[in-house]
Amino acid sequence: MHRSPIKFCKDCGAAVVYRLPDDGDTKLRAVCPACHAVHYENPINVVGTVPHWGDKVLLCKRNIEPRFGKWTLPAGFMELGESTAEGAARETVEEAGAQFEMQELFSVMSVIHVGQVHLYYRAELLSDVFDPGFETIEARLFTEAEIPWDEIAFRTVSQTLKHYFADRKTGQFGLHHESLV
Ligand code: ZN
Repeated sequence: MHRSPIKFCKDCGAAVVYRLPDDGDTKLRAVCPACHAVHYENPINVVGTVPHWGDKVLLCKRNIEPRFGKWTLPAGFMELGESTAEGAARETVEEAGAQFEMQELFSVMSVIHVGQVHLYYRAELLSDVFDPGFETIEARLFTEAEIPWDEIAFRTVSQTLKHYFADRKTGQFGLHHESLV
């Protein structure tokens, strides 16, 4: 999931070099020696949902790499032109074919080593019938006791699930933010 370094200038196609730009910036940047463009790399947003139905949560078995065959909450890369909530809803339709109502933002996790921020919204399922897309082998509901903790695809998913089931016991859903290093 690590991003490869930038090799070529997006503006003119010349090979870039990593160096400190001339403007006092203190981080190494991909700088184009030909047209002097500086290409910044910043974290990417991954957006998803915690779809719930009674005491159960919907998980999707991944039909794609990475983590093929592991279970995840529906989530994916945010697209240009959409809000975080719109992206989370889109991913939930694409990966699970679920019918649901979006709720509050539930978790925000900085995944520092891969340069990503993962955001999960709670989503109330309106049906327990799913129509998963090609990215998903199987979409099904799990109670807390049934969650396959050793088969969860990503740490942000297991952390979000732990927070969800803990909050559910109190009846108070908070906003959980943390950093995974
Ligand atoms: Zn250039």
